[in-house]
Amino acid sequence: MTHSGSTIGILGGGQLARMLALAGAPLGLRFLVVDNAEEACAAQVAPLLRADWRDFDALADFARRIDVATFDFENVPADTAHWLTEHTRVFPNPRALSISQDRLAEKSLFHEIGLATPAFAAIDSRDDLARAVERIGTPSILKTRRLGYDGKGQFRLKSPADVDAAWNALAGAPSILEAFVPFERELSVIAVRSRDGEFRTWPLTQNWHADGILSASLAPAPDSDALAPIAFAHARRIAEELDYVGVFALELFVCDGGLLGNEMAPRVHNSGHWTIEGAPASQFENHVRAVLGLPLGDTSALGVNVMLNWVGELPQANPVLAEPRAHWHDYGKSARPGRKVGHATLCANDAAEMRERLLRIGAALGRESQVAPVLAALR
Ligand code: AMP
Repeated sequence: MTHSGSTIGILGGGQLARMLALAGAPLGLRFLVVDNAEEACAAQVAPLLRADWRDFDALADFARRIDVATFDFENVPADTAHWLTEHTRVFPNPRALSISQDRLAEKSLFHEIGLATPAFAAIDSRDDLARAVERIGTPSILKTRRLGYDGKGQFRLKSPADVDAAWNALAGAPSILEAFVPFERELSVIAVRSRDGEFRTWPLTQNWHADGILSASLAPAPDSDALAPIAFAHARRIAEELDYVGVFALELFVCDGGLLGNEMAPRVHNSGHWTIEGAPASQFENHVRAVLGLPLGDTSALGVNVMLNWVGELPQANPVLAEPRAHWHDYGKSARPGRKVGHATLCANDAAEMRERLLRIGAALGRESQVAPVLAALR
């Protein structure tokens, strides 16, 4: 069977599904997105089946209409993913999905494959929390084991006096307490593994967050020749342990010059958006290739690339549209505080050219503070 005309089903209809569909179109692929929100932004570029994750009649219809299923959203219930495996092919597999849905299982996996993490403890009661704060100390972060993303479901403890406030803030949900690490940098590995086990990574990406949400990414991450092979080896061990198929991200802290694992995302990732214009094959294209069993594309970086995330609302498009080698992405979503509504990717031949581009765009958009840490890293 040729892949042309195959239909990929995507659970979740956000911007990741939208960019997957846009990347798959030149390969002759069709898409079908499932989401229960009428305004799911992927529906602007691919057909939408409106259904809940537990609507098995609708999911049976979905499974009949597709050749393979994948995810734009990692919090699809594990039993839905399992059910789907009985009706169609599903990549990544439900075990990979369920481990990355649970911060405790995820961190335990990191330890198993030899990747250190910030000190952590499982919390199921207020007493657990009080004991863990004694052992781990403060500052520390209480994070729900499940359903947390973009800094949601988190409470930062500044002192042991914050135990009650933290416990109440997370409403007693099963959680983990993590030491707050004074990291030097945040890095991510964007990796892809094919159905026959071929593993590739794009160059390491350096990331900056604001209020727990990704603000900017720079790739290749400067000064990371020594760390990159170690980070890639960790990602490969995780992928092999999970028999992972498709793209995933491994988020890392650099602390005292070494790597600590923060979390993994079992899907294409915001810190890999630069690969659309900054690499011969983007994370989106390689994800669709991987889940269909096609050869993987080239994951090298073309020059220096910076992604600026638009959170809450879009800035003016024109200064970006007018800038050479700058690329505008509007996800077609309405503005809302904390919501990712678009991004821009700036590409350049070298760090000096990127600095000029960033200075110009930062000033034109009034986003000087967003570009400042990237400029500092390019010095
Ligand atoms: P997360 O949702 O766990 O990825 O957290 C979002 C962001 O919060 C991270 O990218 C970091 O910038 C920050 N953060 C999370 N956990 C820690 C930690 N243990 N120590 C320091 N910063 C953290």
